[in-house]
Amino acid sequence: MATLFISDLHLDPARPQITELFEKYLASDEVRHADALYILGDLVESWIGDDDDAELPQRIARAIRAVSDAGVPVYFMVGNRDFLLGEDFARRAGFTLLDDGTVHDLYGRPTLLMHGDVLCTDDVAYQAVRQQVRKPEWQAQVLSMPLDARRALAAKAREESRRHTGSTMESIMDVNADAVVTAMHGAGVDRLIHGHTHRPAIHPIELPEKTGERIVLGDWYEHGSVLRVTKDDAELYGLTVD
Ligand code: MN
Repeated sequence: MATLFISDLHLDPARPQITELFEKYLASDEVRHADALYILGDLVESWIGDDDDAELPQRIARAIRAVSDAGVPVYFMVGNRDFLLGEDFARRAGFTLLDDGTVHDLYGRPTLLMHGDVLCTDDVAYQAVRQQVRKPEWQAQVLSMPLDARRALAAKAREESRRHTGSTMESIMDVNADAVVTAMHGAGVDRLIHGHTHRPAIHPIELPEKTGERIVLGDWYEHGSVLRVTKDDAELYGLTVD
């Protein structure tokens, strides 16, 4: 039996082949027979609210609902693209929302789960924006706007994000090594799983008492990327578009 992790799919109507790959994967035997499926943020390129009447959110809800209806628990943690996703959509899609920084026991091993953006402490400009947009008052104000105005705001935010990513050094946008050790030590775990940086890998991490590991999930821009965790092993692998 296995527990599956995905993140950073950045589903977008502009890349229909990736949405199809996501639907196909969620209908596969591997997912339907998994112990659980975790989606650790940035499932979509942008999320303007659970009341969005576009086609993509409905397709996503259907695909995830079918997994939970098959008896597989689905857990979802928001990322920096879909932080406006809330309980309404969670109910519709049949998944459980997790707070960033939740610890879950996987086959007897406590594991810290994060989207990953809070670990990028060297990116001071990004952290300031994050603090602003995670405020309940800011979110309530945005969610009270008409859908069209929210779509325009999301397009502007994506443009600003592209500009920031294009002009910021790669090292600044990666996780900060001290932030990783502090988070893992604080949570009392020797394993961390996160996404966000789009640098899939399994890194050894020197903790005060032992060597732990940091597993980074991959993005779905060109193909799919999955982490399969079993009692004895953790393996990253790709999914190809037909
Ligand atoms: Mn992200």
